Amino acid sequence: MTVRGLVLVEARHAELCERPEPRAEAGAVVIAPRVTGICGSDLHLYREGHIGDSIVREPHVLGHETAGVVVEVGPGVEEPRVGDRVLIEPGLACLACHYCLTGRYNICPNARFLGVPPTPGTLADLVAVPARWVHRLPDGVTFATAALIEPFAVGLQAAKEAGVSVGQSVVMLGAGPIGLMILLAARLRGAGPVISVDLSPVARAMVQQFGADLVIDPRAVDPVDAIREATGGGADVVIEAAGRSRGDGHAPLHVRRVTRGARLRRRQQERRRQVPGHQRGCAADD
Ligand SMILES: [Zn+2]
Ligand SMILES: [Zn+2]
Repeated sequence: MTVRGLVLVEARHAELCERPEPRAEAGAVVIAPRVTGICGSDLHLYREGHIGDSIVREPHVLGHETAGVVVEVGPGVEEPRVGDRVLIEPGLACLACHYCLTGRYNICPNARFLGVPPTPGTLADLVAVPARWVHRLPDGVTFATAALIEPFAVGLQAAKEAGVSVGQSVVMLGAGPIGLMILLAARLRGAGPVISVDLSPVARAMVQQFGADLVIDPRAVDPVDAIREATGGGADVVIEAAGRSRGDGHAPLHVRRVTRGARLRRRQQERRRQVPGHQRGCAADD
């Protein structure tokens, strides 16, 4: 038996390929995905054939923001059960290293991540996952909402790392999906005003819908003046969520926009790499 999977053959070339049907080994379950979000990392892999040090060297199944239904459980699995609605936690940590054993499995150096080469992802009819990384959904949570929990966790962590708290003014540079999640997280932590700066009219319209107190088009107004005016002098926290440095003095701009004693946090720079070529088409052993 085979199942279908969305396979990235090389940069900008994905195909629906037949793949071996996954089986539930000991400690694992097979899930039929119902909703899978398309992450920025999926887009990087699709467009460039790599993300950071992870390079698509052979045909690779994308996807990791997935909720679905358990269709098979392997030996030794008590939870979840067949028929359960579940969410997959896509970072498969080793649970044996120093970081895992001290509760920081999110930075496990041995972790595999679903959908990041060489670990296959979840854009497939069926996927096998260790039961440990599968969470049952409450009845009121839809598959679509559940699929957004992974990116929302990114926003929560960013707001936490930046020390966002009650009454603080927060500026987000960038209003893509992660910027929106940071906005929601900042709100949950009681921040306000929350100010968004983005060049894209589409992103600005979206962040307006998400309830930003002020949305700035940096081409239309001077963002430094606008932020100073809205915050009475400068923002308490600035979060760079554009994910890109254009080498145009971004960092000095951050600093000019914040107030005395504010924190500066910055997402890690992307590293660019050459994409190696390989054969086109689904792999022969699929
Ligand atoms: Zn993601
Ligand atoms: Zn570990």
